Amino acid sequence: MTTTYRKLIAARHSKNFRDAIEIVESPLRDPAPRELLLRTRCTGVNAADRIMAAGAYIAATPVPFDLGGEAVGEVVAVGAQVQHYRPGDAVLTLGGGYSEYSYHPETRVFPIPRATPEIVSLGVGGLTASIALEVVGEMKSGETVLVTAAAGGTGHFAVQLAKLAGNHVIGTCSSDDKAGLLRTLGCDRPVNYRRENLHDVLKSEYPKGVHIVFESVGGDLFDTGLRHLAVRGRLITIGYIAEYDTGAQKVEQARVYSYLLPKSASVRGFWLNHFLRDHAPAHLLKLVGLLDSGKLTAEVDSRVFRGLEAVADAVEYLYSGQNHGKVVVSY
Ligand code: NAP
Repeated sequence: MTTTYRKLIAARHSKNFRDAIEIVESPLRDPAPRELLLRTRCTGVNAADRIMAAGAYIAATPVPFDLGGEAVGEVVAVGAQVQHYRPGDAVLTLGGGYSEYSYHPETRVFPIPRATPEIVSLGVGGLTASIALEVVGEMKSGETVLVTAAAGGTGHFAVQLAKLAGNHVIGTCSSDDKAGLLRTLGCDRPVNYRRENLHDVLKSEYPKGVHIVFESVGGDLFDTGLRHLAVRGRLITIGYIAEYDTGAQKVEQARVYSYLLPKSASVRGFWLNHFLRDHAPAHLLKLVGLLDSGKLTAEVDSRVFRGLEAVADAVEYLYSGQNHGKVVVSY
């Protein structure tokens, strides 16, 4: 076995991801008594990677810090007091994912059936869609659900989970190809926002409004979702990728209660970290079950990114908006 491993860190905060990152080499050591050593097979690429490196994500993490929101791999060594894992077991870990090897307390990893791109996509994207819709959105059946960035790594799970629960689903995306993907995933009304105006579609085709908005783009899409909430509708704000580079735009409009109160509607924030401990194990088990029974598709983008040197390309690709489903880096 090799005696060193490499990982990608944010060495300095910079809006330019390539300037922020460095690949560093460290010696491999034996895991501490309650730790396991993981050999990474795939890392999921997330919109958060770039804003974290810029020091602009929720709470700015002091540099240097490890990047990579999620990874899957095989356990190669365990500490003397590790109880539930053995070398060869496949696990998912959340955080520190852009690393050839990594160390984790056994309480911080999740057992998975295999370390594949499909399974890593269930990490941040799958868990966010599942927990946000069920726990925060109080998803029911027979409602109308609007998903923005619906063909992306997080959105395509939200579309399918909302359909599986028996809802009518509208999904926004930026191309006809993505609209086609959304149809194959069961989306009832794909909206290519480059061809159609979402406000006009909702006004003419959904006059009673939308019960859940799973919103991750921000800007005009957030405003449109808010204006079209149904009575007792819930808008879940999970991200605002359209304004990550500039910061949330300052806008002048009527206070939010004027939209919410007449409909007994609400806006609810969601950040996965706040829900991991209580909800991640059960939701991950459910997602793996749905995947393995063929009820859920984990759409992995076909563009190949291999090794730590490809991470910056992968992050830029995600931000270009071309990706269909999850962007993954493999090793
Ligand atoms: P992704 O959806 O796989 O990729 C980003 C997608 O956003 C693009 O493909 C693009 O698709 C869409 N987009 C719309 N406007 C954009 C713009 N101005 N610039 C770039 N992309 C734009 O990425 P993801 O990692 O799954 O994240 C999606 C969103 O969910 C992000 O806002 C992210 O921060 C958020 N998120 C939040 C949490 C949480 O815990 N709160 C967890 C996971 C993800 P179209 O243009 O085709 O729509």
